[in-house]
Amino acid sequence: MTEERFGGYNGKILRVNLSNGTVKIEAIDEAFCRKYIGGAGFVSYFLLKELEPDTDPLGPENKLVFAVGPITGIPLPGSGRHCVGAKSPLTGGIAKSEVGEFWGAEFKSAGFDVVIIEGKSPEPVYLYIHDGEAQIKSASGIWGKDTKETIGAIRDAENDKKARVALIGPGGENKVRFACIMHGLEDAAGRGGLGAVMGSKNLKAVAVRGTFKPTVANPEIVKALRKWMVDNLDKVANFSSFGTGGAMTYYEQVGNLPIRNFRDGTFPGVTNITAQAIKETIRVGMDGCFACPVKCKKVIEIKEPYEVDKAYGGPEYETLGAFGSSCGIDDLAAISKASALCNAYSIDTISTGGTIAFAMECFENGILTTEETGGIDLKFGNADAMLKMVEAIAHREGLGDILAEGSARAAKKIGNGAEAFSIQVKNLELPMHEPRLNKAMALGFMVNPHGADHCCNLIDLAFKDAGDTPSVTVSDAVPLGMESAPFDDIGPKKIALLKIVQLKKIIFDSLTLCQFLPYSYEQTAELTAGVTGWNTTVMEQLRAAERTMTMCRLFNIRQGLTAEDDKLPGRFFEPTTDGALSETALDPEKMETAKRYYYSLMGWDEKGVPTPEKLEELGIE
Ligand code: SF4
Repeated sequence: MTEERFGGYNGKILRVNLSNGTVKIEAIDEAFCRKYIGGAGFVSYFLLKELEPDTDPLGPENKLVFAVGPITGIPLPGSGRHCVGAKSPLTGGIAKSEVGEFWGAEFKSAGFDVVIIEGKSPEPVYLYIHDGEAQIKSASGIWGKDTKETIGAIRDAENDKKARVALIGPGGENKVRFACIMHGLEDAAGRGGLGAVMGSKNLKAVAVRGTFKPTVANPEIVKALRKWMVDNLDKVANFSSFGTGGAMTYYEQVGNLPIRNFRDGTFPGVTNITAQAIKETIRVGMDGCFACPVKCKKVIEIKEPYEVDKAYGGPEYETLGAFGSSCGIDDLAAISKASALCNAYSIDTISTGGTIAFAMECFENGILTTEETGGIDLKFGNADAMLKMVEAIAHREGLGDILAEGSARAAKKIGNGAEAFSIQVKNLELPMHEPRLNKAMALGFMVNPHGADHCCNLIDLAFKDAGDTPSVTVSDAVPLGMESAPFDDIGPKKIALLKIVQLKKIIFDSLTLCQFLPYSYEQTAELTAGVTGWNTTVMEQLRAAERTMTMCRLFNIRQGLTAEDDKLPGRFFEPTTDGALSETALDPEKMETAKRYYYSLMGWDEKGVPTPEKLEELGIE
């Protein structure tokens, strides 16, 4: 171990124990960094190594890990990301979430690569990390405040308007099982309940500030790749122009848009809630992350009928789907209000919308009545009812207290057949992509250690002739000279593509680099070499990503998950009630066969357990 900084890394871990108030600095060396890369790789390594089996995710023994990678904070489009992880209170397996904004770059400038937060503070606190030091400070005065008030109060207390803050609002404090960790007011480490873990530790925020410049071994290589990306910004012009959600009308036509809790197939109101509609009506600007000229985040302003504070940003695609089509709502103001409330309270928009859509379907089937909803007419399409449920969940009031457990636990409690309407994998509510249409993505949902994760996944639609939808192209989907496969296929060639695309996403999440930027496998390896000085290759990076995926699998097995948990909700084995997929459903046997083939490609046995040979090959002790 060495304490010197080296290309792309500070070589330092900050370890904070909130139970006894200690702060320690530990060193990591270059060999360790090369093996695990950073971000998602570091988070997976420390959680696997340091958490005991049967860890209570909301107990002091759980650990919360924030990690950056070698690319974080260098002047390059897409370099403003980092990874956060812990044992998930929602899935019981690993939760790992990537997020943008400026926090990661600032944390790296503060002199660390990783912060591991252990224990539980007896009182509410926040952590302030700056230029190689860290202090635990009282948060008694800000516990209970929303995210905007909290950031303002911490910046005032530190007398520093430029401090970057990762934080929770009341949703995290109330341990909503799908609470997220906000970074600023627009960006969330969204999935798996990381905000509830933070709340369980009485940790309100982690504020960072630093003046160290990131180390780069060969600035010329980085400069050349930066120039290439800037010269090729037209490849992401759709994101710059609309942000996410520009293809929603097309999604509704082909069947990719979830409608009324994945039950139905037509939603004419979709044109009211697209990114184009947002641009034409409520958008007042676009925002972005550190060093990124793409600026894909919408800034909106609404005064009536719901006032929406523009500080919380506008809804991106997942949020438009979750509170919009999946709840049968085409009221853009209501969806935008729901998005802002989630950001103020720190709850995940996908799981919040998915759980409300679940409750709406229960209500329409008489499983929930106005007696349980407190008089709320919780039917699909009722925007006011949806907004009341967002409030109720964040504050754990009435039915909201049950829904705050996530749709799977809520369904068990509600009973009477409610489980059929809980649309999740490993208790994580599905994101806004249709498994019936995207069969490889459906398999990705099944086997992903996080549950239904769309980020570390392949979108089959990329293999379909997408007409004038420019962000979806076959050439982007088939890398490294691999063979293509039909878009509706779930045979071995498609599964091999799923694996290689998943590994690319993990490479990006480890480096840490935004997945929206079209750096190729080769450019990513070149970039890593430029920053670190290593003579690295695409193959070395793929192996590191496979190591990370395997460590996540091992983590889940140790925490009690099995192949039985790699399964889809029954709904997807039946068609939608109407629309493009009214005669299309997944075949359970074919999906089971695909799962077995995926296991074999990953070097996992028929029970989904990594073989000793695979562990030896990847160097996992
Ligand atoms: S493309 Fe969008 S999300 Fe990605 S780094 Fe740039 S601004 Fe952030």
